[in-house]
Amino acid sequence: MSTSGERNREATGFGGEAIEALRKRVRGPVLTPDDEQYDTERSGNQTARSHRPAILVGAGGPADVQQAVVFAVRHGLPVAVQGTGHGLAAVAAEGGVLINTSRMTGVRVNAEAGTAWVAAGVRWDQVIHEAASAGLAPLAGSAPGVGVVSYTLGGGLGLLSRRYGYAADHVRGIDVVTADGRLRQVTATSDPDLFWALRGGRDNFGVVTGIEIDLMPVPALYGGGLFFDFSSAREVLDTYVRWSAGMPDEMTSSVAVISFPDAPVLPPPLRGRHVVHVRIAYSADDLGAGKDLVAPLRALDPFNDTVRELPCNEVGTIHNDPPVPGAFESATTLLGELGSDAVGSLLDLVGPHAPVPHVVELRHLGGRLARPADIANAVGNRDAHYLLNVVSRLERADIGDIRPAHERLLGAVAPWSTGGRALTFLNGERDTEYVRSAYDPADYRRLTEIKAAYDPENTFRLNHNIPPAAPGRA
Ligand SMILES: Cc1cc2nc3c(=O)[nH]c(=O)nc-3n(C[C@H](O)[C@H](O)[C@H](O)COP(=O)(O)OP(=O)(O)OC[C@H]3O[C@@H](n4cnc5c(N)ncnc54)[C@H](O)[C@@H]3O)c2cc1C
Repeated sequence: MSTSGERNREATGFGGEAIEALRKRVRGPVLTPDDEQYDTERSGNQTARSHRPAILVGAGGPADVQQAVVFAVRHGLPVAVQGTGHGLAAVAAEGGVLINTSRMTGVRVNAEAGTAWVAAGVRWDQVIHEAASAGLAPLAGSAPGVGVVSYTLGGGLGLLSRRYGYAADHVRGIDVVTADGRLRQVTATSDPDLFWALRGGRDNFGVVTGIEIDLMPVPALYGGGLFFDFSSAREVLDTYVRWSAGMPDEMTSSVAVISFPDAPVLPPPLRGRHVVHVRIAYSADDLGAGKDLVAPLRALDPFNDTVRELPCNEVGTIHNDPPVPGAFESATTLLGELGSDAVGSLLDLVGPHAPVPHVVELRHLGGRLARPADIANAVGNRDAHYLLNVVSRLERADIGDIRPAHERLLGAVAPWSTGGRALTFLNGERDTEYVRSAYDPADYRRLTEIKAAYDPENTFRLNHNIPPAAPGRA
């Protein structure tokens, strides 16, 4: 019978002694598929795909990340990263070294400067709560369980986005371990190219160990949800697209058609029901105006209305994304201006007659999202008006039915698609064309050149990959 060291040598070209040496240098656990803890350590929120690395390093801090990257490069292995496992981007690691950052949970709020330094493994809920006690709010998204670093460096489309822009537009500094094993503190002045690329290019240039982000002076929102029965979907969606197009930058909103399962965890009015859910996040110095702005939607007579003055530490209740791990498949595209014809095309494929149950959401963009960041970054597609995102849970339908249903939905809105996508909403697509579509063409070229300078061997390729520019082009 072969030993674990021999099996590793067969699979990876190195044996148990190399792993033992790594274990001595690393504070956190170093695991192989033979270790009992391996399955727990590689599991994340998205259970449809899971990493199966040859070596898994549970990083206790930046020094462990450096050791793991140096080890991987020395043995010619690619590096993948997992914070919370909400993303499991393009490629679930098969072989290679997976660095799990979930033990790196430090947050330091500087209320006077209006900033927070956040370590790689931190989820939004921790920052939301620590910032709220100082009357501040981060640019978090719909689900507080998502990881801060990956969300932010992927762009980060949040509940305050139309007022303040992408989360990536409000990053002050990034600590990152690059492929040469160096831990760099990257700012706009220290390494302008890398700083530009990391904010939007996310995981292609190294393993980020911490970021410094801006917090906004937002103690409360006027926010929550309006729920309508699917029978009034046409009227609600038509009104929503007209209404949203006229909203000030302070209003960030989205609408979703949701087929709820008949599950006991859900409140009875939603259980097994097809609904339209309008999500409201109004943030302004005077929240009083929010009520008037929401009035045209309220006039459509929602069966449930949770929109109210909302302390910032309750923002997770606006979308109420399920906090528990699950298996899902999704599809996305960015859209231009929409009208009644677009709504009709969508509604033909959603609701009770849809071939598979799904959540189909339109997030309203524009406002500050449409303008470049004060310090330019790689986040692209700022001209889009809406983001379409479709999510289906694999417990409720077969993948063989889900994929064609998603394709039909994307086909139905193709006349309004800009052809672009938002990086944080890509899920599972491996094609480099998908990744390219997240960027403006000149920015994509610049990203490939910066990649060639910092990661010429494409060590960081188990992700939504930006390959290095061919030699001579960088
Ligand atoms: C329920 C739900 C709600 C969401 N809501 C929003 C939303 O409102 N707005 C929005 O913009 N996005 C949203 N997203 C998408 C989310 O921002 C991305 O999936 C993000 O990549 C998740 O990061 P994570 O660390 O939680 O997940 P992980 O799966 O751990 O990470 C995703 C990828 O990010 C990279 N990565 C993680 N940590 C690091 C690091 N320290 N250094 C370098 N690379 C790293 C890795 O390549 C990894 O594969 C949502 C996702 C879900 C599942």
